[in-house]
Amino acid sequence: MTKSKFVMIWPPFLASNIFPLSIPFLVSYLKQKGVGDVEVYDMNIAYWKTIKPHWPLYMLFRRGYGILKNSGPALSFVCDFIKGKMSEVLENMETKGKGSIPWSLSDILTSLHQDGWLYERNKIRLLLEPVFTKECPALACISINYPEQIFFALTIARELKEKWGDNIHIVAGGAQVTKHIGYLIKSEDVYRLIDFFVVRDGEEPLFRLIKGFANRDFSNIPNLYHKDPNKAGVYIFSGSHFCLYPEDFTVPDFSGFDMGVYDDIFPLIVSKGCPWGQCAFCSYSGMHDRKFYGGSVEKTLEVIRGMENKYGSSSFYFLDDALRPAFLRSLSESLVRNNIKISWTSSIILSKEFEDPEFCRFLKQSGLSSVSFGLESVSRRLLKLMNKYHQDLDLEEIRKILAVIKSGGICISVCVFFGFPTETRQEAKATLDFLLGNIDLFDEVRMQTFCLEDLAPVFQEPEKFKITKIYTQDKSVGRRLSYRFETTEGMTQEETFKFTNEALAIFQKAFKKKRHVEH
Ligand code: SF4
Repeated sequence: MTKSKFVMIWPPFLASNIFPLSIPFLVSYLKQKGVGDVEVYDMNIAYWKTIKPHWPLYMLFRRGYGILKNSGPALSFVCDFIKGKMSEVLENMETKGKGSIPWSLSDILTSLHQDGWLYERNKIRLLLEPVFTKECPALACISINYPEQIFFALTIARELKEKWGDNIHIVAGGAQVTKHIGYLIKSEDVYRLIDFFVVRDGEEPLFRLIKGFANRDFSNIPNLYHKDPNKAGVYIFSGSHFCLYPEDFTVPDFSGFDMGVYDDIFPLIVSKGCPWGQCAFCSYSGMHDRKFYGGSVEKTLEVIRGMENKYGSSSFYFLDDALRPAFLRSLSESLVRNNIKISWTSSIILSKEFEDPEFCRFLKQSGLSSVSFGLESVSRRLLKLMNKYHQDLDLEEIRKILAVIKSGGICISVCVFFGFPTETRQEAKATLDFLLGNIDLFDEVRMQTFCLEDLAPVFQEPEKFKITKIYTQDKSVGRRLSYRFETTEGMTQEETFKFTNEALAIFQKAFKKKRHVEH
């Protein structure tokens, strides 16, 4: 390979204005290993800009936000109100965006050999102009982390291949590739477009792919699917695995992402996997074989300081599945001791350790502004079946933990979902009633419907959860592209959707000021 340029693409369409972390992590790793010629193209923001009049309004708001926010409590209140409205506009845009593209996995794959979706395709072609006017890159890496990006990622690949044919090689990676690899590698249309897939952590595989491209020996590259040179239409998996351990994390490199567009809160990750990792519905921890690798506080401070120096960041959003109480304790002590003044948010596991008011006040003092956690349900029966960490806590204990966290001045975001196999309408209603009856104990609720996904224990042992049939031909349900299924007990999926919509409407009517989101 004589060309040396690599393009990394972050595809549309996400309404979130929080920086992605996948590409910045990859770029940082590659640069550290001496691969400097990497160009990042944020097509998501490029796509946003085409949606008028939202874009100018959004930018106007962003410019005024910092000034208003620091101009006294009244204006700060107005500012937060407008910010909430802006988020709603973005969420609506995302919903509309989803309505204009094929959604189920099989529809997305079928769309690749159809002539429809011209509006979106033309838009993508236009957005690729800056790439097309340059020399053909050796490799284009497309990071696909959200279901919304799958259609656009494949459309981008289609346009790149139409322009440059086999002169360009395309590698796709990210959480959605890891989740749907079994489907992707079986599609003839995908085979024409994607030369390589990287599952799980992509840092070392991508580095080795870039370095080893010339001799075309891909067999030893970990986490890599490459085309079988002896059999058309078939991908081969390298067979070896790579995991980027927390001690090897580097300061993410946000080159290519416009600092003026994204929120000032920076994503950060300090561990790998979930410290509990046992929830029966969870596919996240399945991505790391339910293993957990905790990062050290020293490494975390090193990365925070690196980001402060490089980007002036003082606000962080920990993307870890959950931070352990012991880690939170040491981190907050170190932040205070070292006089590091940041604000940060994190996911936690609901644990009795948060019953300690002193601990919660100290977390707040160290800059922890909000926590989120999966309550999921208030039914002890279901929590046991789900194998949640907090399955042995009763409602009084849960209330007490929430009250102590809140009294420490930390905001709380609660996640619940309806329709876990065997859940009855009465059980779902009890969870809704708990939320309605304890509104002062949290600041935001996320209501979802249960999603049946490959990497979750429920999928692997469906009979244990009274699931009698899984429709594996397609993945089409909900935002996570999960499976349709049948169960002998509890609500059907249709009943669950109906219940969730009713619950959202009730919640919205009763508590207009609380945020309530359905994923
Ligand atoms: S649901 Fe949350 S706590 Fe449970 S295993 Fe998954 S990431 Fe961990």
